[in-house]
Amino acid sequence: MEPSRFGRTHDVSNQVPPLARYNAFSSDAALVDALSRENGAWYADTLAAAGAQLTEPDILALAEQANRHVPALATHSPRGERIDAVEFHPSWHRLVALLRAAGLQGTLPFAAPRPGAMVARCAGYYLHAQLESGSLCPVTMTFASIPLLQREPALYAALRDKLLSREHDPRDLPLERKTSMLVGMGLTEKQGGSDVRSNQTRAHPLGAAGGRGAEYRLIGHKWFFSVPQADAHLVLARGSGHETLSCFYVPRFTPDGAKNAVHIQQLKDKLGNRSNASCEVEFFDAFGVLIGEPGRGVQTLVEMANTTRLDCVIGSAALMRAALIHAIHHARYRRAFGKQLVDHALMRNVLADLALESEAAMRLFMRLARAFEEDADAPMTRAWRRLVTPAAKFWVCKRALAFTGEALEVWGGNGYVETGPMARFYREAPVNSIWEGSGNVMCLDVLRAFEREAHAANAMLDDWRDAARADRRVEIALDELLALLQVPEQTREAQARRIAQRLALVAQAVLMMRDAPPASAEAFIHTRLGQAARDSGHVYGALPASLDAQALIDRAFAQ
Ligand SMILES: Cc1cc2nc3c(=O)[nH]c(=O)nc-3n(C[C@H](O)[C@H](O)[C@H](O)COP(=O)(O)OP(=O)(O)OC[C@H]3O[C@@H](n4cnc5c(N)ncnc54)[C@H](O)[C@@H]3O)c2cc1C
Repeated sequence: MEPSRFGRTHDVSNQVPPLARYNAFSSDAALVDALSRENGAWYADTLAAAGAQLTEPDILALAEQANRHVPALATHSPRGERIDAVEFHPSWHRLVALLRAAGLQGTLPFAAPRPGAMVARCAGYYLHAQLESGSLCPVTMTFASIPLLQREPALYAALRDKLLSREHDPRDLPLERKTSMLVGMGLTEKQGGSDVRSNQTRAHPLGAAGGRGAEYRLIGHKWFFSVPQADAHLVLARGSGHETLSCFYVPRFTPDGAKNAVHIQQLKDKLGNRSNASCEVEFFDAFGVLIGEPGRGVQTLVEMANTTRLDCVIGSAALMRAALIHAIHHARYRRAFGKQLVDHALMRNVLADLALESEAAMRLFMRLARAFEEDADAPMTRAWRRLVTPAAKFWVCKRALAFTGEALEVWGGNGYVETGPMARFYREAPVNSIWEGSGNVMCLDVLRAFEREAHAANAMLDDWRDAARADRRVEIALDELLALLQVPEQTREAQARRIAQRLALVAQAVLMMRDAPPASAEAFIHTRLGQAARDSGHVYGALPASLDAQALIDRAFAQ
């Protein structure tokens, strides 16, 4: 029987099935390859298992739930006691539990260091970061705090097992009653985040003498303070007697079991990263222990920031990868003008260009990951860590902004609504570019690193020169970089973005030339360093017609 006039209005067709149950690791040929090249092949089976688990529909749903049901603050109990509690949706805790079960907060590599452990950890982080971003922040900060805490032997001995535990213990209890812990960091104040030297928070010793390992009380505030419920924060404050800043270990509970006087003023209402809580706090004689050299808090935390910056690069590369495969999947199913989107030459061009960008970002962080576990004194390693990390943080995080917008557009209107993941990826993209040192700050750091690490920089540039001999376009780009570094100091600062961009692009080109299939390397160099780069104005989808776009797409996401 025909449906009534007011019954069925239409058949649903040409909508795309949700993307699930693919293997986030095995479907990424370039990642599998990079893992093996950077000494992490022994971890491939674990990553393949994670790659399958993370794309199960019930796991994918956690990401959506955690961002829909955002954290809520309760400053006081029903009886009026101060509690400063933050309530998360259970999905957020499950996401953190997954990250922890994989050891990404530090079990890898700190519990059992071995060659490739840092690379393995970074590849694992990359897979998890494709699922959800707001659960990454506490994991990254805990991870980056471990090398600093290791330098305080007594404190580290007390914390070690809880830092390295693969369990997530969400209970708001004194640490001795918990199985694991999370660590955050508190630097940014109202009057300045980039310029942390403007910090006003003060610390007064509890005993007669202060100094390393001594107890203090802190008075002041932080304007951004993520994961406020973490078991401890590393906080920058001005110690009395020291004009410069020191780093303090500020636990959630004081040694006598009371909640530390770190009062949460309010949670930030954020553009993205919504599943994670970031807040404003005030310290009302909060308890803290000075760690690191007194008066060298900025240097101590900058060291930590170098690691968190690597995670920003991975986080942005992961956003690109997630957006890319969702775009490819959509284009393989959705039809327009009589054929699949992916069969339209112009759409193929866009997707192939995105695939190239994504692969180059991944190659860059995997190479950086290796540098983070190699001998820190070797010139090449120093150069990769000190010069390429800020350049990559600037470039990859910045590229993720345009990238996620372009990938979203592949979905048309469906990309712009909250019923799919594309809008979330897009809203998430800017934060990696801001925290842990915003774009300009990263570029100025690249300049500083060139000045301070001239010997290391030369070793790296000589190595790149060898590779560049095989391609005149890379050679020219390298010459341009060197010329920019020679401009007089007064004008160099204004050129810092060009320098950081060039550095990141030449690094990516050299990595692609050495390890990617020749067609991918050629496409990358042609469009990022050749004349085409100047013509396209960096808009995606400007690959020359001679390139086999379909092959690039198929290689990017084998399904
Ligand atoms: C979601 C979120 C969570 C956060 N969580 C934390 C946290 O847990 N702990 C914490 O300590 N901080 C946190 N932050 C703060 C973050 O680290 C700062 O926002 C960041 O460092 C920038 O500082 P600012 O906001 O004060 O900006 P400003 O320092 O005012 O900078 C504004 C702009 O000026 C630029 N700029 C600064 N100096 C120069 C210069 N010399 N030349 C040219 N340009 C310059 C910057 O690049 C930036 O674009 C968080 C931020 C966000 C968005």
